[in-house]
Amino acid sequence: MSECLFCQIVAKEVDSDIVYEDEKVIAFKDINPQAPVHYLIIPKKHIETILDLAEEDQELIGHIHQVANQLAFEAGIADDGFRIVNNCKDAGGQTVFHLHFHLLGGRNLQWPPG
Ligand code: AMP
Ligand code: ZN
Repeated sequence: MSECLFCQIVAKEVDSDIVYEDEKVIAFKDINPQAPVHYLIIPKKHIETILDLAEEDQELIGHIHQVANQLAFEAGIADDGFRIVNNCKDAGGQTVFHLHFHLLGGRNLQWPPG
């Protein structure tokens, strides 16, 4: 069993509320939602942080954003707008070191973030 929580979710060793899955990407509801819609979209491949992207990952990152758009439409937040967030390393607020993008919407989000 992998030591990485999100790899365990990809492997279905840990339960999650999956909202999208294909061969490269999985998206599930955040366990501690910060907005009415709060999904995490992650590559199935283990990548620690956004700094660890390789040249070959360009298509994967584009694909993740296409999935985010699709999920935003499906969740009914595309018209009003939403936010996609990646927290990188400790000062960025990253707590799970498997690359993930937060999709947040369903309320008016404040800026700047805390
Ligand atoms: P970050 O702080 O950017 O690394 O985000 C990690 C996110 O993972 C947080 O928003 C957590 O609430 C969420 N999280 C942690 N464990 C789980 C889990 N088992 N299922 C779903 N989301 C989780
Ligand atoms: Zn992982």
